[in-house]
Amino acid sequence: MAERSRSAKRIAIIPGDGIGKEVIPEAVKVLKAAAAAGGRELALTEFDWGADRYLRDGTTLPADAPEMFRRDFDAILLGALGDPRVPGNQHGSDILIGLRFKLDLYVNARPCELFDRRLTPLKDRTEKDINFIVFRENTEGLYSGVGGFFKKGTADEIATQEDINTRKGVERIIRYAFEFARGRGLKRVCMSDKSNALAFGHDLWQRVFTEVRREYTEIESSHMYIDNLLMQMMRDPSQFQVIVTCNLFGDIASDLGAGLIGGLGLAPSGNIHPGEVSLFEPVHGSAPDIAGKNIANPMGAVLAAGMMCAYLGWTAEAQNIEKAVRAAIREGKTTADIGGPLGTRQVGDWLANRVASS
Ligand code: ATP
Repeated sequence: MAERSRSAKRIAIIPGDGIGKEVIPEAVKVLKAAAAAGGRELALTEFDWGADRYLRDGTTLPADAPEMFRRDFDAILLGALGDPRVPGNQHGSDILIGLRFKLDLYVNARPCELFDRRLTPLKDRTEKDINFIVFRENTEGLYSGVGGFFKKGTADEIATQEDINTRKGVERIIRYAFEFARGRGLKRVCMSDKSNALAFGHDLWQRVFTEVRREYTEIESSHMYIDNLLMQMMRDPSQFQVIVTCNLFGDIASDLGAGLIGGLGLAPSGNIHPGEVSLFEPVHGSAPDIAGKNIANPMGAVLAAGMMCAYLGWTAEAQNIEKAVRAAIREGKTTADIGGPLGTRQVGDWLANRVASS
């Protein structure tokens, strides 16, 4: 914890692959401008982990990396990992899933706030209707990597993928969601599972939720099956403030949430272990279809850098970054995915200038 309170924040930068290599330099530009404007000190170290490095020398996540991040860094800013030259995305899952698991980043926080009503595909919905956060359990569930093949490649092939739910894992993410709501004065927490069909793992979610919610009587807590949740998010997103769910459902629900606020290009996320080194990234992937064309929206990455500032206690810098993004959207200084005429670098420049002058 003492490490977290140092004045210069030590940030590891992993641009990764595809549009990660385009959006992260813009996020860093804006982060540097915000730090300078606030008289803050940054110590940035870049890591070239990604498909190029993997194809060159086989490096994915070095064995000592988790320990190094815990010891030498306050936070990690990551772009995206994924490249068509690496079928199965071995390096991506080693690096990203590896960091999530080995740093025990059990909270995946994905805010879905509509900055401008012109960006939502929902008819007659405005900024006040869409402002919620999805907390996705980030270290277990169907992403645990437990399973295997039997008779692979034959007509009799069997593939298993185990859904791991632990008492500790379920309880800490549900508790985190309630604590977040309490800390922000929010009134509603909705837990989503599929306990009507997944009789064991999600029965555990039900029992833990029933227990934990009793400690937060001032918060209105509800439950929805995941299929209903997705339908309700579309039908009336204003009913949600905090959603908490398992790894797979959180992945899906937060992409739908991103769709409600203007698309993947705008959505940030934090992979957090409270009080420890944590990782921030845009929700989108490496998007090879648009990589290298200077058309990717850098705002998801920029807002992820803003979330990182907030996590590190740089509240004014976080607000400065978010205000700049809101202003850019209002003034049409955006990439084409949200209707603007600018390229990735031009949006980054505009945001950095705005942040510097505020
Ligand atoms: P992953 O599996 O890594 O999450 P994915 O297959 O879901 O990745 P993405 O790489 O996130 O896919 O991209 C999906 C599509 O969304 C892309 O093809 C691209 O058209 C669009 N997209 C994603 N990110 C952006 C962005 N920053 N700016 C503009 N369009 C984007």
